[in-house]
Amino acid sequence: MLAARHLTALEALVGPAGLVSAAADRAGYETPARYAQGRAAAVVRPATTAEVSAVVAYCAREGLAFVPQGANTGLVEGSTPDASGDQLVLSLDRLTAPLEIDPDDRTVTVGAGVRLSTLNAALEPHGLFLPIDLGADPSLGGMAATNTGGARFLRYGDMRRHVLGLEVVLPNAQGTVLTLSHGLRKDNAALALRQLFVGGCGAFGVITRVTVEVHHRPRQTAAALLIPRDLDAVLPLLCAFEAEAGAMLTAFEGMSRAAMERAIAHVPSLANPFSGGVPDYAVLVELTRSWSPRDGEASLDDTLQQIAGQLLDRDDAPLADALFGPTTRMWTLRHALSEGLRASGPVLGFDLSFRRRDLARFRTEALAMLAADFPDYVLCDFGHIADGGIHFNLVGPADPERRAALREAVLGLAMGGFSASFSGEHGLGRAVQDAYERFTPRVARDYAASVAAVFGRGSASVRLTPDPSRLSPSQDCR
Ligand SMILES: Cc1cc2nc3c(=O)[nH]c(=O)nc-3n(C[C@H](O)[C@H](O)[C@H](O)COP(=O)(O)OP(=O)(O)OC[C@H]3O[C@@H](n4cnc5c(N)ncnc54)[C@H](O)[C@@H]3O)c2cc1C
Repeated sequence: MLAARHLTALEALVGPAGLVSAAADRAGYETPARYAQGRAAAVVRPATTAEVSAVVAYCAREGLAFVPQGANTGLVEGSTPDASGDQLVLSLDRLTAPLEIDPDDRTVTVGAGVRLSTLNAALEPHGLFLPIDLGADPSLGGMAATNTGGARFLRYGDMRRHVLGLEVVLPNAQGTVLTLSHGLRKDNAALALRQLFVGGCGAFGVITRVTVEVHHRPRQTAAALLIPRDLDAVLPLLCAFEAEAGAMLTAFEGMSRAAMERAIAHVPSLANPFSGGVPDYAVLVELTRSWSPRDGEASLDDTLQQIAGQLLDRDDAPLADALFGPTTRMWTLRHALSEGLRASGPVLGFDLSFRRRDLARFRTEALAMLAADFPDYVLCDFGHIADGGIHFNLVGPADPERRAALREAVLGLAMGGFSASFSGEHGLGRAVQDAYERFTPRVARDYAASVAAVFGRGSASVRLTPDPSRLSPSQDCR
C-alpha cells in the first residue's frame, strides 16, 4: 500500500487524470497478456515528457520501484507489477502527442504511447508503413523497449533496424531527459547510445519519444501455403525461395498441424483451407513488390506459382503441395494461431531462437522427448522460421510440478544441446528471469548491471543485477 503522501505528491505531478485509483480501472494495468495478475502500488499515467521526468525523479528520490508499461501486450511479465503491491505502474499510454510524419525523409516521430495500428493508419495516405507485423497492437515505446521482431523480420528486420532516434528519461533523481540522435540514418559523431535502450526492456530508462524509418507499402502481394515433403525439407525450401525471390520474399512462417487445427476449431470465422486434411506442417510464404504492375512484367502470383512449380517438379522435391489464394485469406490462418491456442487450454510457451540449420533437428528431438516423457502434452508450435524463431507452445495439464519439469526439459534441450536463445524476440521479464540468470553469461549480466548503474538505478521490470545465491558455477553454462 502506497503511503498517502506519495499519492498526493504523484497526483500533484500528473493531475487527477494521470492517477488511476479505482481497483476496476487498475486491473487492466495489472494483468499481463499471459500469467497471473499482479498488484500495483499505484498506476501513474503522465501525459508529457516533462511529467514522466518529474514522476521518475520523484520515484528515484523516494526509492519507489516502478514498471514502465506501454500497451501491455508483452508476453514475459515485464510490463506488469509483481504480487507484492510495492511497485508502481508507469503507463506511457497518454504519450500520444501528434505524429510528425516526413514522407520525403520516410521517417516519423511519435510519442511512446502511440499504437502501431494508429501509426500505420496515419501513414497509409502517404503510401508508407512500419512493416513490423505481429498479432498484437503494441505501443511504439514498448516495441522499441522489446526490440519487436514479427513476421516480416526476414525482409525488414526488427525495431533496432528502424529506430533512428529516441528520447528517454533516465531513472535518476533528476529524471534526466536524453535525446539520442535526431532521425539521421548515418551518424557516427557519437556512440549509438540509443541502441542500449532498444531491447533494454525499460531497464536503463523510460522511452518517451521514438523516431523510426518507415517503408513504402507493397502494391503487389502474393501468398501461398506450402506443404513441405517433411520437416527436413523446410530449410531447402527457404533457401530456394531466398535464391529465386530475393528481396520480394517478405515472410516465411512455419505452422504445425496441432496449431492450425486449434485455430480452425476455435476461430469461427476461419475456414479450413486444406481440402485434403490439415498437413503435419505448412509454411505461409509471401512475396511483395512496392511498385504497381508494369506492362510485360510477370505478375507476382505467376512468379510465386512458377517458383513453387519448379520446387514441386525437382527430383529431390522439397515441396509436396502448394495452395494459392488471396493474400489476406492466407494470413488469416497465421494470425488466428494465437487465438486458437489461447482457447484450447493451459499453454506452456517458449520463444526460442536457433541457427536455422538446427531448427528441424531440435524439433525432432523435442518431439521424441515429449513422446517418451510428456505424452500428455501436445506441441502446437509456429514461428518465424526464416529467422530461426519458433514459438514452442505446449498444451496440456496445468499441474505446476509437471509443467516445471517440462519447462526444464525443453530449456535443457534447447540451451544445452543447441546453444539456442530462450528469448528470441519477446525480451526479458519476470517469466524468464530465472533463465536470464542461468543462461546469460555472468560477465554479460555484470556489464549490463554496470550500465544500468551508470544511467540510474534500473527499473523494476528487469533485474539486471545477478543474484549470487541463485547461481552455481555449473549452472552458468554459456
Ligand atoms: C498475440 C501476440 C502476438 C505477439 N507477437 C509478437 C511477435 O510476433 N514478435 C514480437 O517481437 N513480439 C510479439 N508479441 C509480444 C509483444 O506484443 C511485443 O513485445 C510488443 O512490442 C510489446 O509492446 P507493448 O507496448 O505492449 O509493451 P509492454 O507489454 O507494455 O511492455 C513490454 C516491455 O517493455 C517495457 N516498456 C514498455 N514501454 C516502455 C517505454 N516507453 N520505455 C521503457 N520501457 C518500456 C516494459 O517495462 C516491459 O518490460 C506478441 C504479443 C501478443 C499478445
